[in-house]
Amino acid sequence: MTKWIYSFEEGHADDKAMLGGKGANLAEMTNLGLPVPPGFTITTQSCMQYLAAPSFFESDLKEEVLKAVADLEKKSGKFFSGNESSLLLVSVRSGAKFSMPGMMDTILNLGLNDLRVQTLAEQTSPDFAYNCYRRLLQMFADVVYGIPKEQFDELLAFFEKNSKKKVQEFSLEEHQALIDQYKQLYREHYQSFPQSSKEQLYAAIKAVFKSWNNPRAEVYRNLNDIPHDLGTAVNVQAMVFGNSDQESGTGVVFTRNPATGENRLFGEFLLNAQGEDVVAGIRTPEPIAALQKSLPDAYEDFLKYAAILEKHYKDMQDIEFTIEKGKLYILQTRNGKRTAKASLKIALDLVEEELISQQEALLRVAPATINQLIHPVFEEEALGQAALLAQGLPASPGAATGEIVFTAERAKECHSLGKKVILVRQETSPEDIEGMVVSQAIVTSHGGMTSHAAVVARGMGTCCVAGCGELTIQEENKTLVCGNVVLTEGALISVDGSSGRIYLGEIPTVLVENNQELQLLLSWADEVAALKVRANAETIQDLKTAVRFGAKGIGLARTEHMFFGQERILEMRRLILADNELETRAALKKLLAFQEDDFYQMFQTIGDKPMIVRLLDPPMHEFLPKDPLEIEQLAAKLRKPPETLARKIEQLQETNPMLGHRGCRLGITQPDIYKMQAEAIFKSAIRLSQEGLTVKPEIMIPLIAEKRELEAVKHFLVQHIDKLFRQARIQPLPYEIGTMIELPRACLIADQLAQEADFFSFGTNDLTQMTYGFSRDDIGKFIGAYKDRDILTFDPFQSLDQTGVGQLMKIAVSKARQLKPQLPIGVCGEVGGDPASIPFFQEIGVTYVSCSPYRVPAARLAAAQANIQQERQ
Ligand code: PEP
Ligand code: MG
Repeated sequence: MTKWIYSFEEGHADDKAMLGGKGANLAEMTNLGLPVPPGFTITTQSCMQYLAAPSFFESDLKEEVLKAVADLEKKSGKFFSGNESSLLLVSVRSGAKFSMPGMMDTILNLGLNDLRVQTLAEQTSPDFAYNCYRRLLQMFADVVYGIPKEQFDELLAFFEKNSKKKVQEFSLEEHQALIDQYKQLYREHYQSFPQSSKEQLYAAIKAVFKSWNNPRAEVYRNLNDIPHDLGTAVNVQAMVFGNSDQESGTGVVFTRNPATGENRLFGEFLLNAQGEDVVAGIRTPEPIAALQKSLPDAYEDFLKYAAILEKHYKDMQDIEFTIEKGKLYILQTRNGKRTAKASLKIALDLVEEELISQQEALLRVAPATINQLIHPVFEEEALGQAALLAQGLPASPGAATGEIVFTAERAKECHSLGKKVILVRQETSPEDIEGMVVSQAIVTSHGGMTSHAAVVARGMGTCCVAGCGELTIQEENKTLVCGNVVLTEGALISVDGSSGRIYLGEIPTVLVENNQELQLLLSWADEVAALKVRANAETIQDLKTAVRFGAKGIGLARTEHMFFGQERILEMRRLILADNELETRAALKKLLAFQEDDFYQMFQTIGDKPMIVRLLDPPMHEFLPKDPLEIEQLAAKLRKPPETLARKIEQLQETNPMLGHRGCRLGITQPDIYKMQAEAIFKSAIRLSQEGLTVKPEIMIPLIAEKRELEAVKHFLVQHIDKLFRQARIQPLPYEIGTMIELPRACLIADQLAQEADFFSFGTNDLTQMTYGFSRDDIGKFIGAYKDRDILTFDPFQSLDQTGVGQLMKIAVSKARQLKPQLPIGVCGEVGGDPASIPFFQEIGVTYVSCSPYRVPAARLAAAQANIQQERQ
């Protein structure tokens, strides 16, 4: 018989899939001997069973719940039903395998009713008891019936206003009157609050199950690639009360700073408060250090348990605690979410502290987050002159400028119009998630470093300033007031999430240089990785960036990109539109001079690292003007009649340019262009070698489908290169000629191509295009619809299609290696820099990947991770 419920004593940290992260950790902590209030976890499978057939609750689960409650009564020595003096109240919380902060639901103080609240009032105080009851009514209404929380807040505010008292000062009668009004609110929604504790519990459990499918949880899962069929567990736990008195409190603490990684407790607490008060951002909490003064014993205990938990989990923990009348309880622990910066620092520190190995540290940092470490900061000089608007808490680092918007909805609208927006709110809530995702930065006037805005922004790597009390944010009339400054929607501000400062207007940004910590981690990565990482680059700027980011060479220099400057494109056009040999020669001569100079500088910049130069690839007409006015201007420059020119341009248009006269096909029909390019490469290489630099040119031919294409191009190139060496009267320099593998046919005849090629490089952009038959330039028109309908779950131009395109690559590698076991094989399409595709490349035996310079660091880390994972299998 399936067991649907586990007491905390029965579970383990490894049971996350079954008990959810929260349940598994509560179990682990219980077994570690930490002060965890007793409880039990209803499994994630129960949730899926219930969602598939709600009758499961009555038929299978209910009896187990009753048994678990009886067990809990025994353990706590308290009673869940009846009006005995020892009242057992419980919390009910969701907890999935993967943490989904703020996405699902919690109910506290469950088990109170009209009678039990009186007992509690007698034992404690009316204020405490009714405060608990009020919260229960409000949370229960929200979670179980979907009655908006705000309606209860409004009632409370109305009562406070009428009585001119704060709720803490209410008399018993006033508390009761307020409770009556809360219940009236239920009736207005055609609902009632069950007086039976058990009925409350059943309803709460079912509501938590259902919350798995609420829209904001679905959005969160989509954003974080969490499968939809995992379900959530439900944790039922004896309540402890942080709102008992001034010796009580509650808090959320990270064992290290989740923004910077600094090894110091970081977090907040509120005295005399209950759990949700801290995260909800309604009262501004105090920093955890202040607990040492207010409740020193509890603080000491906390330090002790925090250290135990860090050592046990070997990672930074995010711990929720409650202190009831001076006694500390740990309510939750999990590996804390952190910024990329913190993730890096913590991983390195844990190695230093000998808690984890270097390999483990490499696995701890997600490659996708590396980009956040090479993201923009404000230009120092401009920052010095910028007008400071306000200062809040530096909740999530980064620097961003944008137009302010006041709602998530508006953020989405403006984003879809291509605007950069900054979401400004009093506080954010899970409903705002989609607006937060599209915002450059998030600013809140309320809440602390662990408020929803702060936690979610850090998770997303979005810049955030939270709790900026100087700002009055009026969401209804879309204004932000700060002193004398009044800003309305669309006003530009700049937000520095690292300092917490907000500035008026736009401030230019610069990219941060590689930092030392990152370099250290990546140097470990390079030692471990089997796949090398090169870069795709052709401008001097990009080559320098590539070297700075640790590229082991250049895997693809696209020479067509070198013809786009004003002067160059004119010569290119002269060449394409030449009417006779003389004109052709003249244009080629000029282009040769440009290219020779380019390659000279490129080889010089890249030094002794390898660089693959790909000969011209796109169809000729891509270089030609379309606009009649431009054609006329070109005709004047080339001294040709505009009509003739227009006709010639017209003739060069192709029906399917991507399948047309491009790549090696051009090389074959117009060998002079490829010869010119080879000449430029070798003349510069010869010059540099005479100056003492060792240069080993690697030339790559694009779009090969047939062995004889490669033979033909190679033949005239080799002849031409030999001639160049003879003319220079030098010993031939070593060089290589390789081919791109961009067509399905090339994959299938890879053994034949390997006979001719010194190396292969998969052009996965074209290979994906040609395998799917999806135009790489038009996929944007339908990929959204495909994803919506689950026809494709990802864009195959961004992440390799391992099932189709990947299989062709596998065939190609295996065929080629049968012939040449040592043949270097690279991947230089966009997916070469995709951390999710890199393990596959490693698996099929690719030698290196090549990607845009800014993706090199993440790819280096992904390559190391791929090797570690492969070796562990
Ligand atoms: C490719 O096709 O993957 C490739 C790298 O070449 P390009 O993108 O220039 O066509
Ligand atoms: Mg290509």
